[in-house]
Amino acid sequence: MIENMINKGKKVKTKPFPSWPKYNQKELELVDEVLKSDEWCRLSGKKVKEFGGKYAAYNNVKYGIGVTNGTHALELALSTIGIQPGDEVIVPAMTFIATATAVIQNNAVPVLVDIDPETYCISPKAIEAAITEKTKAIIPVHIAGNACDMDRICEIGKKHNLKIIEDAAHAQGGMYKNKRLGSFGDIAACSFQSKKTISCGEGGAIITDNKEYYEEALLTQCVGRPEGDRVYEHTVLGSNFRMNEFQAALLLGQLDNLDNMNQKREENAAILDELLKGVEGITSQKRSKDCTINTHYMYMFTYDPQYFNGLSRKDFVDRLIEEGVPAYICYPVISNTTFFKKYSFRGKISENQLRLGDSLINAEYVAANVVWLPHNLLLGDEQDLLEIKEAILKIQFRQ
Ligand SMILES: *Cc1c(COP(=O)(O)O)cnc(C)c1O
Repeated sequence: MIENMINKGKKVKTKPFPSWPKYNQKELELVDEVLKSDEWCRLSGKKVKEFGGKYAAYNNVKYGIGVTNGTHALELALSTIGIQPGDEVIVPAMTFIATATAVIQNNAVPVLVDIDPETYCISPKAIEAAITEKTKAIIPVHIAGNACDMDRICEIGKKHNLKIIEDAAHAQGGMYKNKRLGSFGDIAACSFQSKKTISCGEGGAIITDNKEYYEEALLTQCVGRPEGDRVYEHTVLGSNFRMNEFQAALLLGQLDNLDNMNQKREENAAILDELLKGVEGITSQKRSKDCTINTHYMYMFTYDPQYFNGLSRKDFVDRLIEEGVPAYICYPVISNTTFFKKYSFRGKISENQLRLGDSLINAEYVAANVVWLPHNLLLGDEQDLLEIKEAILKIQFRQ
């Protein structure tokens, strides 16, 4: 039966998945408008400001600032909340590298802690166990769009007087208990890099309800210059993290389709969950209990080579790609990256300041065994989803 499903010698994928990034007429018009104006930069233009306001409103917070990218958004968020050299910031051990490097760029120490083995989100228990008198903040990452346990994390933050910076790079439009991801902490960092679920090639934003943070961040991202400054006043030490008007034009268009696409991915991820349930050796990421909208930036699952004749994860991913299904291996545990193992921190922090959570066993397991599919695979039709399963079965039974 399964053998019958399989096309011998042919790619399983019969038609391409929906492409990414996408754009509509609106993006064309808005970009064209910027192009034909002489306002390509935030200093004189209106679109970056408009996007900041709209993105904040979309997330039900008061303030938003579009910036160069998500990495800079994290760096800016950390400096804005007042992180000082030597402070400790708790981050999940398995995340994209920027969550941790942003801390180091601020001369502070990322304390890597374990994640939940099923949801892959930072473990509140591991956060509590890692707190010392040096701890100043926590960065929960809503990994792949799955919500962290924000009730517990906010409670911990309150109890120990720690700031919370949400890394919402995967979570545009996501919700926990019907409230936007990114609106729980003191400040949140977002990314609009090409692969993210809304995109302007490279881009980022911070959002916050805190007026002082907003004003401070606005200065910092503009080399310390107040809005409208014409006398080269620099009131704080800053850098140039300004988004440009083209980026904002794209994002203003992209924002219109975000809810529809999140809805589509929710529907298709649920179907794919069901399809893969019966496949031995594949276990999909478990949805967090109170995640009301999961953005499914990535469709993640653990892969057990035992059920695939010992085929390594790397080879499994290569085979999926050969069958026409784009796939990736999971991020490494941060402390296993090359620069981290060499303690090459450019003098910003030293080796003896470093601390890791008691055990990173779940992060190690996920980093070593998880495969992920990009979100555009969930923007197509049911045939696309059936063919993902078919490709996996073909590798399983014919390798
Ligand atoms: C993409 C990403 C970032 C950084 O965003 P860039 O825009 O690529 O700089 C930060 N955190 C996470 C979890 C990400 O996936």
